[in-house]
Amino acid sequence: MAPTPRPASVRFASKVDRTGPTSLVRGAPGPCHQWTGARNAKGYGTFWNSRTVKAHRFAYEQANGSIPDGLDVDHICRNRACVNPAHLRAITHRENILASANHVARRAAVTACPAGHTYDDANTYVAPNGTRKCRACKTASQRAARAAARDQQRAPVIPLRSPRPTPERTAA
Ligand SMILES: [Zn+2]
Ligand SMILES: [Zn+2]
Repeated sequence: MAPTPRPASVRFASKVDRTGPTSLVRGAPGPCHQWTGARNAKGYGTFWNSRTVKAHRFAYEQANGSIPDGLDVDHICRNRACVNPAHLRAITHRENILASANHVARRAAVTACPAGHTYDDANTYVAPNGTRKCRACKTASQRAARAAARDQQRAPVIPLRSPRPTPERTAA
């Protein structure tokens, strides 16, 4: 008797960790369902179902039926390895690109450093990791460091104290 192949849904469920990290993104409630199977180079889970399919697309179709033509399945939680249907939505490719750009745009919309100095051309430099840095804050911290170094030099030399007597160890 030939062994009954396990249904795809059962194989799929065996590769999902439902106790994933809780998403902090609004609109993606509860924990991510982390795909523990294979992933592609971009970090999306992959699943064999007669052919290789993306795990999150499979999860979406299990929950909602087939993906309408021409739509992308987007991760609301921005976690590409997540297959929680509540974190997935079918959107147009254009909307998908905008959603990603939005993430970048939100950061660009920040126009002042945490201390409130404006990120304008004169006051902004770009750190090696690509983030914007505030010159006013850098200058202030360099000034503080120099002042601290000066104070250090001016401080009287404190004679080394004689080493603290070590308590004698009594043999047990
Ligand atoms: Zn998620
Ligand atoms: Zn600043």
